[in-house]
Amino acid sequence: MSVIKPEIDLGNHSFKNKVLLTLSVVILCSCFATGFYNISFDVLSTRWVAASQFLFGAFFAYTSVSLLCGKGKPWFGWSIVYAYIGLIVSAVVTFGIEKSVSMWFFSVPVVSYFVVSRSHGFILSILILILFTYMRIKYNIYETNESWSKTLINIVLPYGIIMALANAYEKVRIQNEWKLSEFALTDPLTRCYNRLALKSIYSSLQSVEQHTAILLVDIDHFKQVNDHYGHEAGDQVLKALSGLFIEVLGDKNVFRIGGEEFLLVLEGDKQTCRSLAESIRARVQTMDFYYGKERIPLTLSGGYKSITLDTALTDELKKVDETLYTAKTQGRNKIVYL
Ligand code: GH3
Ligand code: MG
Ligand code: MG
Repeated sequence: MSVIKPEIDLGNHSFKNKVLLTLSVVILCSCFATGFYNISFDVLSTRWVAASQFLFGAFFAYTSVSLLCGKGKPWFGWSIVYAYIGLIVSAVVTFGIEKSVSMWFFSVPVVSYFVVSRSHGFILSILILILFTYMRIKYNIYETNESWSKTLINIVLPYGIIMALANAYEKVRIQNEWKLSEFALTDPLTRCYNRLALKSIYSSLQSVEQHTAILLVDIDHFKQVNDHYGHEAGDQVLKALSGLFIEVLGDKNVFRIGGEEFLLVLEGDKQTCRSLAESIRARVQTMDFYYGKERIPLTLSGGYKSITLDTALTDELKKVDETLYTAKTQGRNKIVYL
């Protein structure tokens, strides 16, 4: 069965790309600026440093251009965060932990929680906290009279607050995103995926090497079910039928795309898909659906078509819709194959 899960971008993805692009450009500029500074010395060792900075700069020029063109890769996130942290550490080592440049350490939890995963962000933030605290305590012991415990409290507490808030915010954001996606992609009555979900996975379906087909099914004379037994009975029919489709095909292959129309994704070779379509039609016909004590006879008609690589979803839907119409005009309780 298909493992492609429908997804919807609620704006977070594009926002994350903007943050990554900004960080990437900052790193790129810093690499070139310090590279040009180092190359100005007539010393071999600093020239080697400059060469490595130009190399890093070239890499982040590549990530910046890719992100700008919308061609970001999953590994850009952690590589940019690591470079950002590396930049802060090298600036602090160069200028000294006592300088205000060390305040940049406080930005690490927010940036890393947002860009990489929560667990990865947590580990990075803790490692930086240990490094930051160690450097500052070491400096204070030798250069000032402040006790190590005061230093510890004044670093760990504010840093811990920032970390806790970044963690809580990220947790709530992920949960909300998940809930909103569920609302946006599923039909509240049947809990099946909806048309928007179908749109989101359709290109992935087309790229699957295995033969895949779509079957547009429509309940026959459904209006009569509503008129005769009531709207609530109609709702129960929709739930029962979607349950049957999910039982046969799995929940990722069933989409309610209209009132009493479902788009079913069938996987397997042509013969398997056709017999699946036929067995679904037959199971609906023989299904014992009772509303109260009354058995409601149900049938459905369907339009079937194999998915092709280069046809847009709207065109495929138009074709199966026409095929479904043919099934209706040929007397219903029938699948027509294109
Ligand atoms: P055909 O065999 O040609 O498909 O006839 P039909 O009666 O099924 O088709 P028609 O388009 O005339 O009617 C569809 C009905 O589906 C009308 C509408 O009230 C009903 N319907 C659509 N969505 C829902 C729903 O969520 N719940 C219920 N109970 N009925 C619905
Ligand atoms: Mg209809
Ligand atoms: Mg109908």
